[in-house]
Amino acid sequence: MPDTMNPAINPDAKARLDAVLSRLNAATQRSGNTARLLAVSKLQRGDAVAELAACGQTAFGENYVQEGVTKRRELEAAGLSGNAAPLEWHLIGPLQSNKAELAAKHFDWVQSVDRAKLIPLLAKGRSAEAAPLNVLIQVNIDDEASKSGCRPEEVPALADLIAAQPALALRGLMAIPAPHPDIEKRREAFAKMRQLFEALRRGHPGVDTLSMGMSDDFELAIEQGATMVRVGTALFGPRPAKA
Ligand SMILES: *Cc1c(COP(=O)(O)O)cnc(C)c1O
Repeated sequence: MPDTMNPAINPDAKARLDAVLSRLNAATQRSGNTARLLAVSKLQRGDAVAELAACGQTAFGENYVQEGVTKRRELEAAGLSGNAAPLEWHLIGPLQSNKAELAAKHFDWVQSVDRAKLIPLLAKGRSAEAAPLNVLIQVNIDDEASKSGCRPEEVPALADLIAAQPALALRGLMAIPAPHPDIEKRREAFAKMRQLFEALRRGHPGVDTLSMGMSDDFELAIEQGATMVRVGTALFGPRPAKA
């Protein structure tokens, strides 16, 4: 059935999603790589998420644990938890230790694991009946003082700790390179992440995800080997201010 037959389709949301998907497809074709689209819905209302879900987008990223939990509940209560496929929720913002168990209960992925202390807390929060929680290690690839993320040399030890927890599934790495105006500097950061990812994959065969690239540089990230790009503004428009 064509989308135009579906009254729930908002044409503006569909146009933004189509524009991002065509940029993404052009980049994957040029590079021969494949990449999934994560829609970053932080600070956006639940109905904006529902509109994109109605257009077929299934993976959503949130920065704040409580906001993500509330939005997921709201959508599920409204029966808007996706079309054929259930929605998948990713935590991409910095994680405080006291929120780790809550995050492990309500998200499908946590992309911001950057210190050992979080790992047993995430495992403890994940019930034995649930599928393992998918985990990415966040790397502070440009060594910025203000950013979360571990140092590149800390990745192997964190990976071993995650792999030792049956409630967790180590899937790969995430980074937010500095928004450097010089495109070559960004390319270098993405390329360094790709090297770290390949090294990690040699020791951990379940690793398949390299999450990097946002609204204004995701094509470059795909060219350098991103397998997941995190796009907010280009999909939803500008974000409302945090309340
Ligand atoms: C907000 C955010 C994004 C999306 O950024 P846009 O520039 O709006 O696409 C991606 N990743 C993380 C970790 C974010 O916090």
